Amino acid sequence: MTLTPNPDAPFFNWAQLLATDAAHVWHPYNTAPARDMVYPVCAAQGCLLELSEGRFLIDGMASWWCVIHGYNHPVLNAALTSQLNCVAHVMFAGLTHAPAIQLVERLVKLTPAPLQRVFLCDSGSIAVEVALKIALQYWQALNEPQRTHFLSFQQGYHGDTYHAMSVCDPITGMHRLFTDSLPQQFFASAPTPNFGQSCTDADVHELTQLLEQHHQQLAGVIIEPIVQGAGGMRFYSAEYLIRLRQLCDHFNVLLIADEIATGFGRTGRLFACEHAGISPDILTLGKALTGGYLTLAATLTTDVIAATLSAHAPLLHGPTFMANPLACAVANASIDLLLASDWQTTIQRIENGLRCGLAPARTLPNVIDVRVLGAIGVIEMNAPVVLANFQRQCVERGIWVRPFGRLVYLMPPYIIDDAQLTYLCQMLIEILSQNK
Ligand SMILES: *Cc1c(COP(=O)(O)O)cnc(C)c1O
Repeated sequence: MTLTPNPDAPFFNWAQLLATDAAHVWHPYNTAPARDMVYPVCAAQGCLLELSEGRFLIDGMASWWCVIHGYNHPVLNAALTSQLNCVAHVMFAGLTHAPAIQLVERLVKLTPAPLQRVFLCDSGSIAVEVALKIALQYWQALNEPQRTHFLSFQQGYHGDTYHAMSVCDPITGMHRLFTDSLPQQFFASAPTPNFGQSCTDADVHELTQLLEQHHQQLAGVIIEPIVQGAGGMRFYSAEYLIRLRQLCDHFNVLLIADEIATGFGRTGRLFACEHAGISPDILTLGKALTGGYLTLAATLTTDVIAATLSAHAPLLHGPTFMANPLACAVANASIDLLLASDWQTTIQRIENGLRCGLAPARTLPNVIDVRVLGAIGVIEMNAPVVLANFQRQCVERGIWVRPFGRLVYLMPPYIIDDAQLTYLCQMLIEILSQNK
């Protein structure tokens, strides 16, 4: 490991900055002032975060699924700089630009064939909002305005904006404080059985009944294909997804696949829907889309849905920073970088590393389950992790892992090397065995 401080990192008075942070900054999912301390990052390189005090941390989170190529990547930096010297931003209504057109072309080519129309959004939650709007406007166009509800799944997660929250797990989700004011949706049990197992009629019995009872009120079904992420870190059967596709066709309900976390190789396929060989009616992408450089997301749908909807009214959405040229340029570079690499072998290598590295956790008394799929490793504990202690122990050992609740999980940048991955897993297990 080369642990050279980045000479370009400007000098700051961190004591002062952290005092200001504590006094005025609101951090994600946090109280104000923040319950736990925050660690100042002054630079990052490859798979390493550099803290202001000169410490380096191996990143096990890829900054929440995003940073697939690692930090400070020369190719992505160059793409951004060259776009910066042309145009950083321009409105997207009445104007267009090459980075957006080229990105849309790439997304259409890479995703399942029926998905031909792309709406670029400024974040994942907004991509979900747009997906839900497309479904609602589609049924309005077909003169079925009573289809105003969605069917979703327990332990699902689809974002933090209002309608996106309404389709997140209503009980275990982060949004239970809002339950009374949210649009009411229908929820099926979390998909079963586990990934790799076959799915029987019994496994989709409840789902079938819900669709049978409510399909006339349903605009769509929304699901994270194969991997339920932030709502539970669960991996479920590809056959379940195949059956869900069949049921949606049977009951004439749109299927929305939220691949914001799973897209761009994370599960071992470029998109998780490929495990089941299905195509959704609407697809959302985000997170790794720009390699973690800038916020950007996309909602894709079919020509038929787009044309049907448009015959009635335009799609009523238009973010100020829609299709930001810098974000599109770096997304194009990130996708090209991924496709030019032997990413399948890379993900397989990480999967093997996680399987070996996390296996010893199975014998810990406070561990319920250890599971790995692609470049995602999960250790499920029997009780919530005490975050402040856990983070301090991570930083002391030179790793960065941020659990939520009972779930301790790794989804490192794809460029993590074997030594870093081994170290990351070893330190994680050391911490968990000391916290029994
Ligand atoms: C992260 C995530 C979102 C929300 O994306 P943001 O960019 O955080 O708004 C939506 N759906 C899934 C599956 C996600 O993992």
